Amino acid sequence: AKEAGRNRYQFYSDDMTARAIERLSLERDLRGAAERNELFLVYQPQIELTNGYIIGAEVLLRWKHPVRGFISPLRFIPVAEDSGLILGIGERALRESCRQAQVWREQGLLDMRISVNISAVQFRQTDFVEVIERALAEAGLPPDKLELELTESVVMQDVEPALEKLRRLDTLGVKVAIDDFGTGYSRLSSLRQFTVDRLKIDQSFVHDLPGNADAEAIATAIVAMGSSLGLRVIAEGVETEAQEEFLQRISCKEGQGYLYAWPMTTSEFEAWVTAWQLHARA
Ligand code: C2E
Ligand code: CA
Ligand code: CA
Ligand code: CA
Repeated sequence: AKEAGRNRYQFYSDDMTARAIERLSLERDLRGAAERNELFLVYQPQIELTNGYIIGAEVLLRWKHPVRGFISPLRFIPVAEDSGLILGIGERALRESCRQAQVWREQGLLDMRISVNISAVQFRQTDFVEVIERALAEAGLPPDKLELELTESVVMQDVEPALEKLRRLDTLGVKVAIDDFGTGYSRLSSLRQFTVDRLKIDQSFVHDLPGNADAEAIATAIVAMGSSLGLRVIAEGVETEAQEEFLQRISCKEGQGYLYAWPMTTSEFEAWVTAWQLHARA
């Protein structure tokens, strides 16, 4: 029995070691990845469902590892968060997003809002609002052209400092969206005290539309809640016409997903916008 116990311990231990080594190697490679230009941003449009207008774009990080190829943000963002690297990477992404949005406005390509994902680690920093102000000022971007995507758990944890930051952002005019909405533990009623502007229906619900009674009920409830609280509601992960039709039927006014466009590089996004606008006008 003792032997078996030791073997089992050995097994778990090797497994944990392998995972720890993998994490460390990712962390090592991530350090300096930005300087080596391995990290870049892609943009996914957000669409007003009734008329097809482009109302904004979400910015998503990409990492092209020189040996391993593309590594999903679902894998490297947690490593960046645990190691603190997210602070530098996130601020860089924020500044570049603001700059790019302002370039597009000045070029007359599109006067849309840019939505940037913010990690809990960034939001918790005491100088978070100053970092946002600096990025806006540096880019010359009007504050209401920037939206920050925060998850429910980020704003519901440490409620007092979070409320204070959200109030300051609101005063600045910066928009806030609650990402992955419906997946968290929050009491929906407590949403009222948060100065947020938009709810993003999590793609796991959108995926099961239409036909799945639970997903339909949740999506419908989120849209109703948004409307009663005066919040905009966007559905993420819209892939099919049937999903879009259902969303229109429950009066969800905004959507984002592969049905409209994949996340695109700067030049791809510019070409897409031009083609989309021609199509929409036709
Ligand atoms: P998220 O913020 O919920 O982003 C939405 C994810 O859904 C993105 O995955 C996007 O590419 C994907 N997506 C878009 N349309 C569709 C669709 O129609 N169907 C499906 N199935 N998926 C769709 P991505 O780019 O792999 O990012 C994954 C997560 O990584 C993000 O989830 C976000 O939590 C995180 N992330 C990405 N970029 C950043 C960033 O710059 N900063 C931070 N803090 N997190 C980021
Ligand atoms: Ca997001
Ligand atoms: Ca606001
Ligand atoms: Ca999301």
